[in-house]
Amino acid sequence: MYLKAIEIFGFKSFGERVFIEFNRGLTSIVGPNGSGKSNILDAVLWVLGEQSYKTIRAKESTDVIFSGGKDKKPMNSAEVSLYIDNSDSFLPIEDEEIKITRKILSSGENEYYINDSKSRLKDIGNLFLDTGVGKNAYSVIGQGKVERIIGSSAKEVKSIIEEAAGIKKFQGQKNEAIKNLSNVDLELEKINLILSEVG
Ligand code: ATP
Repeated sequence: MYLKAIEIFGFKSFGERVFIEFNRGLTSIVGPNGSGKSNILDAVLWVLGEQSYKTIRAKESTDVIFSGGKDKKPMNSAEVSLYIDNSDSFLPIEDEEIKITRKILSSGENEYYINDSKSRLKDIGNLFLDTGVGKNAYSVIGQGKVERIIGSSAKEVKSIIEEAAGIKKFQGQKNEAIKNLSNVDLELEKINLILSEVG
């Protein structure tokens, strides 16, 4: 699995639709200061479901929408798609190419798509769970992230190691099972109450 391309339209400094292809292996993005290099990384995190606007250097959700530039009007929405090569079936979807899209409208409403089908943020999270990719994953190391990891609390470091070891999804399943069990207990209590009234 690798990131084949990113398509950005109306996100931060990208007032025009841009399609950037990546090759397997190492890609370097070079450009003058302030030309939008970090905005590309922000766009990757944003599609993966980043909800913290501080992380992607914005003050509020709609700050990511292109606010206009030289001879260019502001836009009403932002849209970013990641094209992922999945020919090794690394991600649990049969398709050889997976397109993940996030859109935001000026109202602040977010939409997520997997292969152009409307999806939930949770579906995107589940797709990448335990893969090392994802908004909190270690695959995106932005400026200052190394220092942040070193300075993290023991609990945060444990969470990073759990993601790398691929055990996060089992924790999610365990929590779900505990919740279901306590619902069953509640139902049992209700039934016993009814039975005692009937008896
Ligand atoms: P450096 O090399 O200094 O780190 P960079 O190439 O990584 O710079 P970015 O930080 O990605 O540059 O881009 C910053 C630019 O993006 C600024 O010029 C800023 O005005 C512009 N920008 C950020 N958000 C928006 C927005 N919503 N609309 C228009 N332009 C934006």
